[in-house]
Amino acid sequence: AGRDAAEDVVPRYVRVNTLKTNVEDVIDYLKRDGFSYLGQASRLEDLRRLSGKNFIGDLHLPELLVFPPRTDFHSHFLYQAGHIILQDKASCLPACLLQPPPGAHVLDACAAPGNKTSHLAALLGNKGKLFAFDLDPKRLATMSTLLLRAGVTCQELAAQDFLKVDPDDPKYGRVEYLLLDPSCSGSGMAGRRGERVAPEEEERRLQALAGFQLRCLRHALRFPSLRRLVYSTCSTHAQENEEVVQACLQEHGASYRLVPLLPSWQERGHAPLSQCLRASPSETLTHGFFVAMLERRGPGEEQEE
Ligand code: SAM
Repeated sequence: AGRDAAEDVVPRYVRVNTLKTNVEDVIDYLKRDGFSYLGQASRLEDLRRLSGKNFIGDLHLPELLVFPPRTDFHSHFLYQAGHIILQDKASCLPACLLQPPPGAHVLDACAAPGNKTSHLAALLGNKGKLFAFDLDPKRLATMSTLLLRAGVTCQELAAQDFLKVDPDDPKYGRVEYLLLDPSCSGSGMAGRRGERVAPEEEERRLQALAGFQLRCLRHALRFPSLRRLVYSTCSTHAQENEEVVQACLQEHGASYRLVPLLPSWQERGHAPLSQCLRASPSETLTHGFFVAMLERRGPGEEQEE
């Protein structure tokens, strides 16, 4: 039932792939295809009210167009040609907030199937370097196809355990931006809600995931030139989100601080981590999600708190 409920309220989000086209051209194409463009949204309510063949520009993310729930683009030319990417709004937040400038060196630690990687490449304008890792060779193969269709050329993919990547390898000496979107329980994804396991087993699983996520986060902070890191999950459990970030800050708070994200975003990280974002079908019209951004403190910058 959870699945149906979420799929009926969460709009279809379409990210315009700026490596291949631009927002105006996509809007024109869709208008010729029978859709009606209602302009830029100014309130969340505008997204909730969409119906029929109407669509609207998102109120937070500039390259995102919003359609009524269940609008299907899988056989549409724009999707097949890689001009649009079908990606939930919450999952567009990490790359958008990390905002690496063209020419930067960026690392995507747990990258497959690669929607966030292609988003990062679009922000880089394919200029710079995008190191992307995933442990699972099959998922990485899917990712290669996806990146090819999206016109991504600045990537270097490796089927590798991120925890075994050497941060001191000179190859990564210029990595200033890092996206960490590790495996999680997926409890924020509508389709997984129905799965029922014994509470003790669920607890063990969450503990194991949180342990892995914290190891990844610690490892990520070891890259010597790192300036900004985004940590994200599609989990709703504080154990995989705020608690992981807080445990990391307890060790690294002297060198890294949390960046307050999108003041206009209503759903915030659980106290005291209100700098972070949460997302959910009911509050933000997206799937369940969590995003934190850490930034290296400047020389001599005092630790607040
Ligand atoms: N960022 C991806 C995207 O936007 O398409 C989704 C990533 S998914 C949440 C997590 C990924 O981490 C999975 O593909 C999984 O194979 C990979 N993974 C798990 N353990 C890993 C490890 N130790 N090193 C690298 N990747 C790992």
